[in-house]
Amino acid sequence: MLKPGFFITGTDTDVGKTVVTAALLRALHVDSLFACAVKPVQTGVPCPMAACSAAGRHSSTPLAGDAAHYEDALRFLNHQNVQEAGQEGSPVAVTLRSFALAASPHLAAREQAEQGGVQQSLSLQGLYADLCHFAAHTPAPFLLVEGAGGLHVPLNDTHTMLDLMEKAALPVVLVVANRLGALNHALLSVEALNRRGLPVAALVVSHTLPMPEATADPTQWRILQDTRPCLAARVHPVPVLELPFCPALREEAAEKRAQAWEQLACALAPVATLARQAVQSAGALSAQEQADSTALLHFDAAHIWHPYTSAVRPLPVREVVRTQGNKIFLRGGQALVDGMASWWCAVHGYGQPSLVEALRRQGERMSHVMFGGLTHEPAVHLAQKVLPLLPQGLDHIFFADSGSVSVEVALKMALQYWHCQEPHTPRTRFLVPRGGYHGDTVGAMSVCDPINGMHTLFSNFLPRQIFIERPACPFGAFNTAQSSANKLCDPASLLPLEQAFARHGHETAAFILEPVVQGAGGMWLYHPDYVRRAAELCREYGVLLIADEIATGFGRTGKLFACEWADVQPDILCLGKALTGGMMSLAATACKAKVAQGISGCGGEGVFMHGPTFMGNPLACAVALASVDLLLQSPWQARLAAMERGLIEGLSPCADMPGVAGVRVLGGIGVVESTDPLPMERLQKYFVEQGVWLRPFGRLIYLMPPYTLLPEELDKLTKAIQSALHKGLHIA
Ligand code: PMP
Repeated sequence: MLKPGFFITGTDTDVGKTVVTAALLRALHVDSLFACAVKPVQTGVPCPMAACSAAGRHSSTPLAGDAAHYEDALRFLNHQNVQEAGQEGSPVAVTLRSFALAASPHLAAREQAEQGGVQQSLSLQGLYADLCHFAAHTPAPFLLVEGAGGLHVPLNDTHTMLDLMEKAALPVVLVVANRLGALNHALLSVEALNRRGLPVAALVVSHTLPMPEATADPTQWRILQDTRPCLAARVHPVPVLELPFCPALREEAAEKRAQAWEQLACALAPVATLARQAVQSAGALSAQEQADSTALLHFDAAHIWHPYTSAVRPLPVREVVRTQGNKIFLRGGQALVDGMASWWCAVHGYGQPSLVEALRRQGERMSHVMFGGLTHEPAVHLAQKVLPLLPQGLDHIFFADSGSVSVEVALKMALQYWHCQEPHTPRTRFLVPRGGYHGDTVGAMSVCDPINGMHTLFSNFLPRQIFIERPACPFGAFNTAQSSANKLCDPASLLPLEQAFARHGHETAAFILEPVVQGAGGMWLYHPDYVRRAAELCREYGVLLIADEIATGFGRTGKLFACEWADVQPDILCLGKALTGGMMSLAATACKAKVAQGISGCGGEGVFMHGPTFMGNPLACAVALASVDLLLQSPWQARLAAMERGLIEGLSPCADMPGVAGVRVLGGIGVVESTDPLPMERLQKYFVEQGVWLRPFGRLIYLMPPYTLLPEELDKLTKAIQSALHKGLHIA
């Protein structure tokens, strides 16, 4: 089945299907069940396809046709209901195809084609595929799909609306116009539905005209009075409801219309109850599904390695079946608000249509081709888009396949640069602040923090770098980032940095740091003055500056790149994570012309020695381009400023709780540090029970959510952290 939903059809055209669909939509939202009404084919609406498709409640695009009625029915709905019902801002009314001629779909489509208008296929397969695509991408757990006309209305030369209904396989709500002939039409329709194996969820007898007074027209009155009980007897146990004629729906005043919608929604409450039951039973795992899921988890535990786990005694994992918006859906239907953006990369949340579309389009054309000796538009366009956004001077780019590899590339760039500059005694060491994290490959590991990184395990193998103590001067905390940036850093705290340069500057190939935020090494937010001073010292000692912006790039700290806090232009810069909005693995290393030319001008050896198989992968580049566009078109600064305020408000109560060492916030990063190592498994379990996805590590509970997070979702995340701390779950 598509997903839980009803297909709303009628015994004829103009029987009140749209009123029933719209009123039912309201009834579901009143019941806090977030539903979306879909009109697969709309005729009689002289608007281009785009004007009536996928418009959301907050869209500025005016809705036309039946979708406008769906939206009207939700007017003045108690805001709380909408919030509880689901994702505010996602579409509640969608039209898949729209044609100007008010006629049967097959005629309307034909005329549009003849007039040279927008060509829209009305093939059964195409329409059904679009319906499935929409169903898969809407966060709404329930769909109301409204047909056009009755069952046998032609879609094209071979198929009818009934064929689409059969494919969708949704239970049907049949709307019966209460007029002479209603019984015949209704029972013929029920028979046709039965023959196709389509279950009938309910019949709604609708009054499209005022009911006559019994005394004024007794015959007509008796006929109309008889319809509901007569049908109820014949279709038992299917419920048969009656909707009154409602002239107030045509009122100018929206409040009056809202009252009328409310009255109709109440009349349809029993159908809303059926919808809720359908959602609940779809969420409950069948015995077979339960068995499949258990088998999957067993296999996983026995054979598949997860990050940083024992193969023999792995930590528990949960099965995800879907991600959408800012949520992760587990098998069984549980939805978790994502506080991690999938390790900080899914900055737009999940299932963003423009990214999905970019992936699909590129996949159809060319998913991959080697980059050696070949090039392509996605890579070139991405470079053209990204390079001008970076700190000034970075004008060469290398596309790698993961963050760690982009760090390897950066280190190799620096080593090759010095190999060319000083061939006899090339500089081969890196100067690194402690507390950093740059990846899990060998070169990257060597520049990670020597204590909390993996140096102990690989000490005989790793190149030895020069470590300086962690930047001491903090940034962020409860102040807004801006006011904190304006504060000066104590010059004494920069002394270790200066001393290290004085001692080792002459032998150092490059200084590598994560500007302003040390991420996986400890979620430490430090002052931009440190970055600024490091850049000055690099210049003074001729050392290359590498900025690892894999975690901070593309807005996370409130600036597009964290180097901007210090107004520093590194010689080499690493990107990853948010580059593709989390859709694909892609990373990049950009460098200044000085570095590129320095490597290239090296006698006959001037080629840069790196070239992974999936370098410049077209799929990943196409998605990255769509992601960067989406970011730049979005109000990302305002979103991050609001998130920073929300994080400060939501996490500051934790600061005074027992066992909490500190709380810090910057842009879209919120951290609670405990005094002792955290019982990760216990906390993780509690957070899942609270409907949030957080993954504490070491002594840190932190948030790095999608930028698209709604205020109520952020509230849910911070409340879950607060309540875990209240309960003392962080104390082992
Ligand atoms: N550098 C930084 C700053 C990171 O945060 C990470 C990933 N957490 C990496 C490098 C490594 O990236 P990847 O996991 O894509 O190899």
